[in-house]
Amino acid sequence: EIDIPESHPRYESLLTRHRIEAGVEKGITSQQGLIAQGRGEAFDYLLGEETIPSADAAERVAAAQLLAADHAVLSVNGNVAALVPGEIVDLAEATGADIEVNLFNRTRERMERIADHLRDHGGTEIKGLEADGRIPGLDHERAKVDADGIGSADVVLVPLEDGDRAEALAEMGKTEIVIDLNPLSRSAQSAAVPVVDNIIRAVPNMTAHARELAGAADDDLAEIIEEFDPEETLVAAERAIRGGDLDG
Ligand code: ATP
Ligand code: MG
Repeated sequence: EIDIPESHPRYESLLTRHRIEAGVEKGITSQQGLIAQGRGEAFDYLLGEETIPSADAAERVAAAQLLAADHAVLSVNGNVAALVPGEIVDLAEATGADIEVNLFNRTRERMERIADHLRDHGGTEIKGLEADGRIPGLDHERAKVDADGIGSADVVLVPLEDGDRAEALAEMGKTEIVIDLNPLSRSAQSAAVPVVDNIIRAVPNMTAHARELAGAADDDLAEIIEEFDPEETLVAAERAIRGGDLDG
C-alpha cells in the first residue's frame, strides 16, 4: 500500500493509478490496461476530474435501462476489476443484473483471477468462464461470451470496451451502455447510452440512481429512456473538454 494524503489536490487520480498498478501486480489487469488508464486520465483531466451534468443525466438513464431490462449484464475487464470490484457488485445487486468477465486479451488464468477477485468483493454468480456463446463478426477469442450471459442479454453495460466489440454488440441489437472518458472513441459513439465519466465515479452514481428509481413504474422508466439523446450527450462532453464549459 502506498500512502497518499487525502489533502493532495489530485488524490483520486493518484489512488486510481495505484489501484491499476496493484491490479497488474495481482495478475488481473493487463499491461495494455496501464496504457488505457493513461488515455483515460488525460480526458478526465480535461473534464475537470468531475461528473459533468450531462454525464450524471446519462448515468440516470443507464440505471433506468438496467432496471427496465429483461436480462441485463455488467461486463467486467481487468481495469474494471482493479478499479471498482465492490461497486460493480453493488450495481448488480441494485439492478438485478448479472456480472460477466470479458477480456480483450483472454487467458483462462486472468479470467479466473478476476472472478475470484469479484467474489472477494461480494460477487456470487460470476459468468464468463463457460464461453459457450459467440458475438458474430469478431475473431475467435474476442467473440467469446457466455450464452446465458451477454449472449442472451438485452441490455449490456460495457465499461472501457474495445471499439470493435462495442460495435459488434450494438449490431447484435443489444442496448449498449458504454462508460468511456473519450467521447470520440468508437465505443462511446456506438453506445445507446454513452457515459463520459471516470468509471470510479460513474458506477457508484448509477447505483445511487438505480436505488432512487427502484420503485418507479415501467412507464416512467420508459419515458426516461425515450427522452435521452446519445448525440447530445457526446456533444456536451466534447464541449466541456474543448472549452472547459462544465455546464455541458
Ligand atoms: P477504440 O477507438 O477502438 O475504442 P481506444 O483508444 O479507445 O480505441 P481502448 O482500448 O478502447 O482504445 O481504450 C480504452 C478507453 O477507456 C479509452 O477511450 C479511455 O479513455 C477509456 N478509459 C480508461 N480508463 C478509464 C476510466 N477509469 N474511466 C472511464 N474510461 C476510461
Ligand atoms: Mg475505445
